[in-house]
Amino acid sequence: MHYQAILNQIADRVRHFQGRGKVADYIPALARVPADKFGMSLATVDGDCYSVGDAHENFSIQSISKVPSLMLAVGQIGGKLWERVGREPSGDPFNSLVQLEFENGIPRNPMINAGALVVTDCVLSNTRDAKQAILDFVRVFAGDKNIHYDSEVAASEMEHRFGNAALANYMKSRGNLANDIEDVLDVYFHQCSIAMSCRDLARMFLPLANKGVSPIANTRVLSEARTKRVNAVLLTCGLYDAVGNFAFRVGLPAKSGVGGGIVAIMPNEFSVAVWAPELEESGNSLVGTEALALLTTLTGKSIF
Ligand code: GLU
Repeated sequence: MHYQAILNQIADRVRHFQGRGKVADYIPALARVPADKFGMSLATVDGDCYSVGDAHENFSIQSISKVPSLMLAVGQIGGKLWERVGREPSGDPFNSLVQLEFENGIPRNPMINAGALVVTDCVLSNTRDAKQAILDFVRVFAGDKNIHYDSEVAASEMEHRFGNAALANYMKSRGNLANDIEDVLDVYFHQCSIAMSCRDLARMFLPLANKGVSPIANTRVLSEARTKRVNAVLLTCGLYDAVGNFAFRVGLPAKSGVGGGIVAIMPNEFSVAVWAPELEESGNSLVGTEALALLTTLTGKSIF
């Protein structure tokens, strides 16, 4: 498969989708990212990596960070996690409070904010330094020691924390958070602030394409069974409330973030990361979704 030629063709063809979405503007550090950035990297399980455009530039991974923290928590406490968080798509916005109240403080899945806060709470309970553990995890599996938290983004998220604080307070009142709310929010906002490139992201997600083994670090990260489960959660819950449309158009498990990144997995073959900051109404990268739809069309590879 000529992945490089395919990525070049995609970069060319998606340009005309630019200008139709809106860059996230709830914090200043995201609002000032140039709307016309586009990068894409595809890492194969055999160790090759192909990139195009701004694929080496760091951006705010935001909700994509919910995946490494889930992998970390599942590795730490295994199936017990599912007593505190569900695995059904929410059909509601990622930061919705209403559903959480109806369902007694048990979030629908780990990819919405409430669920991610529970996952972060687990990591906090099971590591001495949760912030360092999450950063180390990302660094080791991306094979890049120069990945950092963006302290401006983390501080800004903390300043605008009220919606997430409401979710955390409600879950605490229902007994579904063990740690102090401010500590959980602090770790959660730091994980969202991680700045990474498409290349780093594609490499870091390879274990999900490779039955749980990282070809970068040459280590098993998750068992095969847990890898299957994390991919299932991505397929059904990874794209906010546009997950059905994404499965229809792209056909790969994936996770997006409001920084404009999306990472998708083709089991046994590759992981692919795309970055284009303009978002559609659900909060997914508009050009990124088009790029991934083109990728599965041009390669003929999807899980369906
Ligand atoms: N830091 C954002 C929040 O929790 C993440 C948003 C996202 O990428 O979905 O509101």
